[in-house]
Amino acid sequence: MTKEDDKSIPVRVALRCRPLVTKEINEGCQTCLTFVPGDPQVIVGIEKAFTYDYVFDPTTEQEEVFNSAVSPLLCGLFKGYHATVLAYGQTGSGKTFSMGGTYTSAQENEPTVGVIPRVVRMIFQEREKHTDCEFSLAVSYLEIYNEDILDLLCPSVSKDKPSNINIREDPKEGIKIVGLTEREVFSANEMVGCLELGNSARTVGSTAMNAASSRSHAIFTITLEQRRGADRSVFSLLHLVDLAGSERQKKTKAEGDRLKEGISINRGLLSLGNVISALGDENKKGTFVPYRDSKLTRLLQDSLGGNSHTLMIACVSPADSNIEETINTLRYADRAR
Ligand code: ADP
Ligand code: MG
Repeated sequence: MTKEDDKSIPVRVALRCRPLVTKEINEGCQTCLTFVPGDPQVIVGIEKAFTYDYVFDPTTEQEEVFNSAVSPLLCGLFKGYHATVLAYGQTGSGKTFSMGGTYTSAQENEPTVGVIPRVVRMIFQEREKHTDCEFSLAVSYLEIYNEDILDLLCPSVSKDKPSNINIREDPKEGIKIVGLTEREVFSANEMVGCLELGNSARTVGSTAMNAASSRSHAIFTITLEQRRGADRSVFSLLHLVDLAGSERQKKTKAEGDRLKEGISINRGLLSLGNVISALGDENKKGTFVPYRDSKLTRLLQDSLGGNSHTLMIACVSPADSNIEETINTLRYADRAR
């Protein structure tokens, strides 16, 4: 742990560019992003440059993303800070890959393992080091789809049924999600098992509903409770979020359900952008932060700002065919900083 970790910068932004995928190469796409070695900068075309806290070029491995950008948040978690990691970007930009949202235990020792399984491993390693403390760990895994909350750890999860999960605000304890499965876990394997279970629920839903997963937010939450002797417990929350695709819905052809989806997703991402930029702006300190505008921001309310650290991983494709959406993502991420 270094001094760096203690600095209370509420929001950090990492830009991650994936390699060109086979389909893009076959279609003759060219790379439209340039990276400056040793500089957290990305250049679009020939002149437009953006700077972030971290910039990960297409050669960057999962391990490096985790070690440099994610692990400092985990140190904070053991000191009682909440933490949130958000993967943002258009569909196909690498959000799920980065977060580990397709993880299966067959992947265990592969370098392609994403953030969540690495977080789980490190939390259990850290726990061993803190012998003066008693720990309890619990997880939940949910999806927000059309402003409805679905329980990914409950086998009867279905996108057709409206859920009876609700968000309540307790004056003492803060945001409570009523009706959601929260499973206490005792080992890394057990926790990763919950991730796998939820991932498969998400995948099943998405085939049934025509890639609905690209229009939903998935939130894997780890609750860490620490007790020292007779002292009161300290609770810290870690949210690991695979956001809905940031691409714009085609407004003209959207009808019925499609239109409803388009609006609700934009609402979550839009209010997240507003919340994050309000938090990051020194001039806006103490002013109103619009958490109540969407389920996503309400749910994350206690873990964005205040006693918490946030990392946004903005994911982009390097292909020139995606340049418009890539610039949108670079701008959104720039505003968050
Ligand atoms: P999203 O969740 O944003 O829609 P995915 O994570 O599914 O995007 O990624 C789209 C495709 O690109 C997948 O086939 C994935 O394996 C691949 N991919 C994404 N990021 C990387 C990366 N950093 N390195 C190699 N392949 C990647
Ligand atoms: Mg995805």
